[in-house]
Amino acid sequence: MTNDLMCALGLINTHITESGGALMNEQAADAFSALQARASAAGFQLSVASSFRSYERQLAIFNGKWRGERPVLDDFDRALIRQDYSEEQWLHRILRFSALPGTSRHHWGTDIDIFDPTHIPVGESLQLIPSEYRNGGIFEDLTQWLDERIAADDCEGFFRPYDRDRGGVSEEPWHLSYEPVASALRPLVTAGNLRDLWLREPGLRPDGYESILPLLNELMDRYVV
Ligand SMILES: [Zn+2]
Repeated sequence: MTNDLMCALGLINTHITESGGALMNEQAADAFSALQARASAAGFQLSVASSFRSYERQLAIFNGKWRGERPVLDDFDRALIRQDYSEEQWLHRILRFSALPGTSRHHWGTDIDIFDPTHIPVGESLQLIPSEYRNGGIFEDLTQWLDERIAADDCEGFFRPYDRDRGGVSEEPWHLSYEPVASALRPLVTAGNLRDLWLREPGLRPDGYESILPLLNELMDRYVV
């Protein structure tokens, strides 16, 4: 397995540096610093809520949800009950908000979840839900500022891969991706590469492996952007 492939699947962190509290690819971190400076001039404290996440971490999140130990929510933020769903239905419910390990864009160090801490009312905390970022939400102005930059292709290389609901992953207006590096890694995230990994390293197989394997091509098409 090449270094690039291990990086694409989140198996190594040698491509990651620490920058202002965030774990990012160095080139992406530099571009983000430039974007932060421009955001600051426009009155926003552009901050990172989540950056690099390893395969192992994503595996723990996914397995926790598969087992019903972590909450799995519907589109209205209501917790779902594992027993009400078949394995296949449950899988789709999880993938709407959480990636299959190996397919998270957060593996690359190019993708971050952003917010502005100065816009959070005292006593409240960040929830990372669309209503915070859209009409009337606490980050509406920041979203609009980013929308304008992205539309003008003037966002230091960042774009929103989950700008709208395409029937797979839910809309994630907080998620930014550094395109120049991300677009080089994305082609390595394939069903074939995941199958090879799980064949060679049974310890890295996600829970529900037997249910996932026959659906893998379809899941990748639907949920990997
Ligand atoms: Zn994200």
